[in-house]
Amino acid sequence: MESPRFDYAARIDRARAAMAEREADALLLSVGPDLPYLTGYEAMPLERLTMLALTPKDAVLVVPELEAPRVEPGPFETRPWGELEDPIDIVAGVVGGARSVLVGDHTWSAFLLSLQDALPDARFASAGPLMTSLRIRKEPDEIGLLRRAAHAADRVVARLAGLEMSSLTEREVARIVADWTVEEGHDVDTFKIVAAGPNGASPHHEPTDRVIAEGDMVIIDFGGRLGGYCSDTTRTFVVEDPTPEQQEVHAVVLAAQRAAAQAVRPGAIPAEIDAAARRIIEEAGYGEYFIHRTGHGIGLEVHEHPYIIETNSQPVEPGMAFSIEPGIYLPGRFGVRIEDIVVVTDDGVEPLNRSDHSLVSVG
Ligand code: ZN
Ligand code: ZN
Ligand code: ZN
Repeated sequence: MESPRFDYAARIDRARAAMAEREADALLLSVGPDLPYLTGYEAMPLERLTMLALTPKDAVLVVPELEAPRVEPGPFETRPWGELEDPIDIVAGVVGGARSVLVGDHTWSAFLLSLQDALPDARFASAGPLMTSLRIRKEPDEIGLLRRAAHAADRVVARLAGLEMSSLTEREVARIVADWTVEEGHDVDTFKIVAAGPNGASPHHEPTDRVIAEGDMVIIDFGGRLGGYCSDTTRTFVVEDPTPEQQEVHAVVLAAQRAAAQAVRPGAIPAEIDAAARRIIEEAGYGEYFIHRTGHGIGLEVHEHPYIIETNSQPVEPGMAFSIEPGIYLPGRFGVRIEDIVVVTDDGVEPLNRSDHSLVSVG
């Protein structure tokens, strides 16, 4: 599926208003999600510079001539540059005498250093906070895509419940997850974690050739992209019968996941959402084994603002989308994580993932 066309003129207007608030004279965006957010065009991550130069009066997309045919016309001027031109000079020309320049966080240092040489009188700062302020509350069409992506991921989880995992390797299961992620409607799969037995104690484990065996807990955390927007969900399975301890740890994580999701509403503080999960895990005696924050925002990126962490006291607002994913990781033994994406609504919360949360036994 092609990315839907959003109202880029409105977004550029909002960007300019945010620049004025910050007294910034120019906004420069290159590779990464900020550029497509404002223009619908995603730069190829290659050595030739692609850059939107936005000032109060100009919006110029500087793009390598050979990539210019990929640009869909929008509320900006496209300025293709030929092989013998210097794109840094072109950007510097658009920006002119700007004193305060904001640069996208994903811009390569090689480009930034050249821009600093070309604009010696300008003060450079991160465009991150400005772009976050635009992207953090999703438009209804963005939430629609996140919902579709989440439901596609849920269909993969439903199929996994019927998969004979024992005697497959983690890598083989990861391959299946990736295939099903696309079959169920994503444009691409973006990542998959399959962590069986003791490997489950490593939250960001890379799938290995370890053969999945009877008695293993298997954490499966995966996602894809649909219309540019990400899914990200985790379920923990058990091969054949769980031990009482495995059942208990799973029940604690599930209670923590539910408590945190239920704490989400407009005005809720991320630190308190995190605490809702953490308290339950601590009271059950596993506090030292919950070694990461409770969640992260999601949208064009798998991880973006807002972060659901003890240090974040910025209240959540309608339209924000983020994960709730507590876990318990017992070194050398096993791990459990359960993850859903939720969206803050006008009066509460919409959980986007609806697949079975219980401890499902597989063959
Ligand atoms: Zn993670
Ligand atoms: Zn995940
Ligand atoms: Zn996540």
